[in-house]
Amino acid sequence: MLTTNPFQDDKLHEECAIFGIFGNDEAAAHTALGLHALQHRGQEAAGIVAFDGAQFPAHRGIGLVGDIFGRKSVIERLNGFAAIGHTRYSTSGAPMMRNVQPLFADLEIGGLAIAHNGNLTNAITMRKQLVQQGCIFQSTTDTEIIVHLMATRRGSVVERLTSTLQQIEGAYSLVVLSQDSLIGVRDPHGVRPLVLGKIGENYMLASESCAFDIIGATYVRDIEPGELVVINKEGISSHFPFVPQQQRFCVFEYIYFSRPDSIVEGISVYEARKRIGIELSHESPVEADVIVPIPDSGVPAAIGFAQGSNTPFEYGIIRNHYVGRTFIEPSDEIRHLGVKLKHSANRAYITGKRVVLVDDSIVRGTTIRKIVDMVRQAGAKEVHIRIASPPTTHSCYYGVDTPERNALLAANSDVDSMRDLIGADSLAFISIAGLYRAMGQPERNGEAPHYCDACFTGDYPIQLTDQMGEPDKRQLSLLTEFN
Ligand code: AMP
Repeated sequence: MLTTNPFQDDKLHEECAIFGIFGNDEAAAHTALGLHALQHRGQEAAGIVAFDGAQFPAHRGIGLVGDIFGRKSVIERLNGFAAIGHTRYSTSGAPMMRNVQPLFADLEIGGLAIAHNGNLTNAITMRKQLVQQGCIFQSTTDTEIIVHLMATRRGSVVERLTSTLQQIEGAYSLVVLSQDSLIGVRDPHGVRPLVLGKIGENYMLASESCAFDIIGATYVRDIEPGELVVINKEGISSHFPFVPQQQRFCVFEYIYFSRPDSIVEGISVYEARKRIGIELSHESPVEADVIVPIPDSGVPAAIGFAQGSNTPFEYGIIRNHYVGRTFIEPSDEIRHLGVKLKHSANRAYITGKRVVLVDDSIVRGTTIRKIVDMVRQAGAKEVHIRIASPPTTHSCYYGVDTPERNALLAANSDVDSMRDLIGADSLAFISIAGLYRAMGQPERNGEAPHYCDACFTGDYPIQLTDQMGEPDKRQLSLLTEFN
């Protein structure tokens, strides 16, 4: 049993981005640019570890990528032909430097840096065992479990990593930098994204393809679920060391999380959102004068809704771009304030109009309530809400930060009561069937759905070991981190 609770003061819930490049003289500069393009996945802290053939220079900081790596002197210090980077997101608690990735350790086989996007679902269980065996943890991130397990194994980096991951449950996309290789891995269900790119002769890995566009690299392909790729002087090799599983990519990456200009699993995120909007307009039509997105994340779906319903699309709400993602604000009070800071009504397109507001999702319901209020105050005749995802009824344990279930509006109310609470004239969410149709997938089949949609269905594809078991384990699971 853990006698102290090292996590209590600095509980973090994260969503993250990873990047890695091998064989390029400007590895750290490319990594910094890649992380900048992936900033939407995490705005709390970032880090880069490079390798120059002898040393692993590292730099980590709290804040935005541009602020941490914007100075030439910082990048120059990160000398090397290979590098990995990470940017992380936290919604509560003070950021802690010791949790900022990539993590680095000196193992028997040499230096090793690792960066992780996802969340391990047996992290607390594994950590407890490792602490009992005498491991001394430096951070509270679940990624450190991988480092400790690798340290106690035998064989090459790939052998150690493979046997470590065979003991790990959960969602992970990883980049690992060793003395001779850059390694990328996706968990057997492929819940989180990881893509392969190329610039000249050099390969790179990133959470999303938008990280390649910024440096003029080309997207080669997605790393497959359960695939481990090794990139070194010999080129690239691909391995499948795990028992194959049904692919369950996170559908919320399309709905909200990924950048619209990314191609994920061969599908344009923008295109997917637009198609969801079209489908929603057919499922839940409404007579209106104007379709208004809640910017930025509601824009592509609203364009689709406007096209599908033949109704004008207008920016009836203007977003202030100098405010980050609302969710980042840790307390409810600040979150309320955040919405006002972020959006304002564009009266010219609202007053006297029947308005359809389109957003990607409702989580706690804070954003939409404020916006409906604001749109009514601006003189809208009717306010209808259309949401481009099914109701979010369950928490995510695989790396997307969602509040505890009891804080999710849709977990506690049906659509009619949500509509009344929000103060809208009508409210509709896309159905699960409509979502799968829009994604071009066969209808959701209980046995083998194409996506992880646990936040909408409660069907968790990977065992939630830390959520089961004795009460003390459950208590500890509150401390689990997201990467
Ligand atoms: P809420 O006010 O809690 O209902 O927040 C809903 C808004 O937050 C949505 O319109 C999304 O744009 C955004 N959002 C949804 N899920 C997440 C998430 N996991 N992390 C950050 N932002 C999110």
